[in-house]
Formats: sequence, structure tokens, C-alpha cells
Amino acid sequence: MTSPLLEVKDLTLHFRLDRHVVVEALDRVNFFINPGEILGLVGESGCGKTTAARAILGVVPSPPGELVSGQILFQGQDLVQMSPRQLNTTIRGKAITMIPQDTIASLNPLFTVGTQMLDIMRWKGTQTPTFWSRYSWKRKRQHRSQLIDMLRQVQIPTPERQLRKFPHEFSGGQRQRLLIAMALSTHPDLLIADEPTTALDVTIQAQILQLLKRLVRNRGVSVLFITHDLGVVARLCDRVTVMYAGQEMESAPTASLFSQPSHPYTQKLLESLPDPGKEEMAGIPGVVPSLINPPQGCRFHTRCEFADDTCRQERPPAVCVAPQHTVRCHLYDAQGKRRR
Ligand code: SF4
Repeated sequence: MTSPLLEVKDLTLHFRLDRHVVVEALDRVNFFINPGEILGLVGESGCGKTTAARAILGVVPSPPGELVSGQILFQGQDLVQMSPRQLNTTIRGKAITMIPQDTIASLNPLFTVGTQMLDIMRWKGTQTPTFWSRYSWKRKRQHRSQLIDMLRQVQIPTPERQLRKFPHEFSGGQRQRLLIAMALSTHPDLLIADEPTTALDVTIQAQILQLLKRLVRNRGVSVLFITHDLGVVARLCDRVTVMYAGQEMESAPTASLFSQPSHPYTQKLLESLPDPGKEEMAGIPGVVPSLINPPQGCRFHTRCEFADDTCRQERPPAVCVAPQHTVRCHLYDAQGKRRR
């Protein structure tokens, strides 16, 4: 069996707002990504998906962020133990890149996209702060032709001309294509995509997802795809980890999760999907708990119809209910058999 490219182990992260107010954003979260795999990290807004991604990149502001415990193993190295300089020179924007959701805020309005993309390429592979003086015309020409090739791959028409344009001159879908090109231009091993298609209409969304899937498959890049949309997960991801209120609830290959959802929260999420055959839309009763003094034990117990005293006191261990399919719920015994 191949070892994972990325393994997040028991990651606990808090935000200390003042001496007595602590937001317990992540509570002993575990997930992994194999080489070349697309993992969907799914859950409602505020469940900790983006915080987990930011922790991987080492960009959680501290203070107020406090990494309480856990490991983030990337290619066998613990990113938590790396210095900011090490992260900058080898990981951030190089081995791990990110496609953000907000395309406008992610591009500098004062520079052409060509200038911004070239900056990223010359930064890649640079180990010392004196790299500006070493950017020769030959290298710049090389990078420019690589960029034009990259823009063709993300289906931006007449790429030579587009490099001279400013971000506001592109549509939302085109800006997202530019950001995909930027993220892949440094040949990363892992790409983190944070709800990259949420702001786009459905036809553009489908095109972007198809494009992203084709490019990462061709290049063998692993992806952590953050989304709240299970439809997107079904189309794109190899495996899924479902999160709720800062805890991971269930992890499974996509087909297994959809055919045999085992955690009550996952079951409710799937029941909440729009169904043209039903007149009323199902929802999950109750609200997501505050992460300031969150519920003890299983954090879903305030909304779960099966909750008992054990659920209210003890966090469930992960048990295997099918091959590569784990669930954290007291409904299952250590062998993965449902008790009640
Ligand atoms: Fe419900 Fe208990 Fe399972 Fe949590 S551990 S999902 S409260 S049955």
C-alpha cells in the first residue's frame, strides 16, 4: 500500500478571542490524501474545512490562532514543526498551492495577469531572497512561453493577448481558469481548492470542474477539494471526509459514502439534497452549535435523534464499517456492526 501524500493527525486548533473566550475550531481532526487522489472535504459553513486548509498551508494568524496539538505530515515531514522560512521556500505556493473561492480578491487589480503569473513562476524554485537580480531575460522568455501554454490548457483564448489584460477585464469563470493556471504553474504535488466554483453559475461550474479534473489527473496532482456541495463531490472526488462543527464524522470512497452513508449527519445531509419528486425539502433540525464551549462528546448530539448519554459524554472512536470506510458514531461497535 502506498503511503499518503498528506496525513492530518489529531489536529486541534483554537482561536483565542480573549482570556476567557476560545473558539474550538478543530477538535482532533484526521484525514489523509493518497498520491494522485482527489479528496472532498465536506460540511456546512463554519465546520472547519477552510481552517484545516489554512493550517496545512501554515497561514492561520497567530494570535488569535493556537495550534494546540496534532501533526500535518506532508511527504513524511511534519509541517507543524517547520519554520515560516522553510514553509515559504519549499511548501507554500510550491509543493502545495491553492485555488481560492474569491477570484477578485485573489488577483491584484493594479497589475496585468501576465505580471502576476510571471511573479509566481520566478518565485518557484527560488531559495534565497536575492532572486530578483537573477531573473534573466532568457528565463523570463522561457516562463512566458510556459505561461502561454498553461493558459491554452485552461482554455483561455488568444493567451498572448490575455497576458496584457488586468483582472477586471475577465469574467468570473475566466478568472477562475487563470487561478487554476497559476496554481498549477508551479507543478505542485498537492492542490487545495477552497469552494472554487461556488460563485459561478452551474454551466460554468461544470466546465471548470471538468477542466480541473482533467488537468490534475494528467499531472498526477493530489487535490483537497473543499465544498459544501455533495453534487460536486459525486462528480469530482475519489474519497470524501465529512466534517461537522470542527470534528470529522465519516470518511469513505465516494461511491461507498453515497451508497452506504453510515453517520446520522451524513444521512441527513444526503436526505437534504433537492429532489424534484418531493414537494418539501428536508432539512436537519436544530442549528450548528457554537464552537465557543461546544457540546462535549459527539458534537452532533444536539441534533441527533439517536443521541444518548454516552454520545453526550464521550467522543466516538473511528470504526471501520466497510473497506476504507470509517465512521465516528456510538451506534457502531468496534467491529463496525450497528448496535441499535
Ligand atoms: Fe448521534 Fe451519538 Fe452517533 Fe453522535 S455518536 S451521531 S449523537 S448516535
